Amino acid sequence: MHKVTLIPGDGIGPEITEVARRCVEATGVKIQWDIVEAGDSAMEKYGTPLPDHVIESIKKNKVAWKGPITTPIGGGFRSVNVALRKKLGLYMCLRPYKYYPGVRSKFPGVDLVVIRENTEDLYAGIEFEQGKSVTKKLIDFVYQTTGNVIKEDSGISIKPISISASRRIVEAAFKYAIENKRKKVTAVHKANIMKFSDGLFLKVAREVAKSYQGKVEFEDRVVDNMCMQLIQKPQNYDVLVLPNLYGDIISDLCAGLVGGLGVAPGANIGDDYAVFEPTHGSAPKYRGMNKVNPTGMILSGVMMLRWLSEFEAADKLENAISSVIKEGKKVTYDFKPTPDDPTAVGTKEMGEAIIERLLKK
Ligand code: NAD
Repeated sequence: MHKVTLIPGDGIGPEITEVARRCVEATGVKIQWDIVEAGDSAMEKYGTPLPDHVIESIKKNKVAWKGPITTPIGGGFRSVNVALRKKLGLYMCLRPYKYYPGVRSKFPGVDLVVIRENTEDLYAGIEFEQGKSVTKKLIDFVYQTTGNVIKEDSGISIKPISISASRRIVEAAFKYAIENKRKKVTAVHKANIMKFSDGLFLKVAREVAKSYQGKVEFEDRVVDNMCMQLIQKPQNYDVLVLPNLYGDIISDLCAGLVGGLGVAPGANIGDDYAVFEPTHGSAPKYRGMNKVNPTGMILSGVMMLRWLSEFEAADKLENAISSVIKEGKKVTYDFKPTPDDPTAVGTKEMGEAIIERLLKK
């Protein structure tokens, strides 16, 4: 019996989590769920969106599966997702982007994996607000030490990239490639312009690649060129490894290649813990409407089953999802040519079709 922390999240989270949990349970794998609340509902009950017992539960079980959680804009609480990554040391964001026949996409055959560094880069949160005295001090310091002039009315974000975090993520990408029989790792950067941050990332990536020579191919791409290449010939790429910001942007580009956010799963992983989730957010406007696509959430359950070494169950569930999508009958609105297509089914009904297919085989 596996033990997994289950966080339904908010917005559309609870409804897709419920459907996805039933799909995973239908594989026959025995999982004892520790269901805990984070986000809006936890805020109401406990006065914090991320109560300590949620972290304790993940630390105990080592594996969590979560629905999306809303981040209020301006005020309210800071992102629970970011807090989870920090508190659990989840330095790798892993996102497979695979085309399933039947999905509305102009790029059939795409099968890419994006591995994004989660802890540093411009997302480190080191920011200097325009007009603050500390910002002025920084501007003066930069002028005195380098002679560079930053306009006085600037806001500043710092982009730290370290040898240790770069090595950790590139190593993780190569290990992933080997374990999953992938052929190539591409490091993505802008080293030609940002020599001391992206340049360092690239230098470390090249060093790490040397120890995998003959086992996994390695190459690098400048991020703007990468965007064009992914649109023109995505089939030439396999595993991409990127610093935080480019990882975020390229992830959405790849989601677009395979048919949108609704079908893309993901995981945030560290040395000790793994948290699986869909790529999309909590889409509050669809909350409680039994409308949205549960595929990203269910596919993140497939990733979780593989993490738990339940490979046969994972394959069976993935095949069931794939055949329901291919058939195109019991699928949600976003698989249809227009969003108001009357033949679209609800979240629950799509889940039931997947379970039916799973039990048939
Ligand atoms: P979103 O992904 O929630 O929704 C954007 C649009 O994508 C929706 O309006 C909808 O049209 C479509 N969409 C999303 N999921 C879908 C699904 N399963 N099926 C069909 N269509 C779907 O992005 P957003 O509106 O930018 O974010 C809403 C909230 O979610 C924000 O508070 C954001 O911070 C949060 N968020 C959370 C996570 C997470 O928990 N990991 C990730 C991203 C965003």
